Amino acid sequence: MTFRIEATDGAARSGVLRTAHGDIRTPAFMPVGTKGTVKALHPDEVRALGADVVLANTYHLHFRPGERVVEELGGLHAFSGWDGPILTDSGGFQVFSLRDTIAALDDDGVTFRSVYDGAEARFTPEGTAEIQRRLGSDIAMCLDVCLPAGAPAAELERAVQITTLWAERQVDAPRAPGQLRFGISQGATDVELRTQSIDEIAALPFDGFALGGLAVGESKDEMLDCVEWAGPRLPPARPRYFMGIGDPEGILEVVARGIDMFDCVLPTRTARTGSALTWEGRLNLRNSAYRTDPRPLDPDCACPACERFSRAYVRHLVTQREMLGLRLLSLHNLRFVLDLTARARAAIERGTFSSFRDEALARLAGPPEEEPCNS
Ligand SMILES: [Zn+2]
Repeated sequence: MTFRIEATDGAARSGVLRTAHGDIRTPAFMPVGTKGTVKALHPDEVRALGADVVLANTYHLHFRPGERVVEELGGLHAFSGWDGPILTDSGGFQVFSLRDTIAALDDDGVTFRSVYDGAEARFTPEGTAEIQRRLGSDIAMCLDVCLPAGAPAAELERAVQITTLWAERQVDAPRAPGQLRFGISQGATDVELRTQSIDEIAALPFDGFALGGLAVGESKDEMLDCVEWAGPRLPPARPRYFMGIGDPEGILEVVARGIDMFDCVLPTRTARTGSALTWEGRLNLRNSAYRTDPRPLDPDCACPACERFSRAYVRHLVTQREMLGLRLLSLHNLRFVLDLTARARAAIERGTFSSFRDEALARLAGPPEEEPCNS
């Protein structure tokens, strides 16, 4: 058994997904290491923050340095120094989110221009499966057609059709040793198309199932309404992955709807813009209110930034563009979402997830960030 559910609480579940490079405790937040690195952090730091699994990006690694280089150096684990589980996306999201670079989409694949040098490139279902085999990730994602919110109905329908066609071609594609493969459903928030897509993908023997094409510009209410019914429709005995959510409120909401895994660049990207995720909401450290604030970023956090440094010091580093500021905020923000996810898991195991979520959402909506320190 690759995936074991250990507890359920309402629709929320906790479990363990076994991979060739270790276990992933779920619900699991997956820090994003786009180019084979969680930006600015050492793999040991990422592990110490509580991450079980990191995500890497097939699109970027294919173009730089190329899967041949990675394979020659022993695969992505050896190459990047992260020996835990790695999930690779298929590259489809990058191709379809850079719509201006797409030259042709047909039943066989998609032709586009590389963002690196403008050269023409082509991704096919078998091709991206092969790249992921050579990268040697523990979980490979299917190539799918992901459209932005508000795409015309005819386009959406075609995206669902092609996504199924491609999934059928990837399900038995060669894999790295022990590599799992997840199928992805599309269909935006359209009930009929999403249902069709889930049912078609779920009929194939994948190791896990994802909701793709959400959190791509639709309203939060539309997105959550969709996950409410689409999450539980995914096969219950397999891990369920919501692609692209990582804000604290969003994590709580999708976990409540039966999602087991999620990823997002938000914690690290937010760090690079000088903001901290905290139990008081988001703090913009550029705000002069923190100039002499002696408190840690979050008094309830045990990360390397909060253990030793004040908001005033982090603000000083951020405003002076010191690299340490970016690193401390990255460490803190990742720790914050990983800790939130761990607390959610513990609450599910205790059968108190619903009250935990309500209290957490109330705290996160707390006092405005501009409130200065009065001490
Ligand atoms: Zn912290």
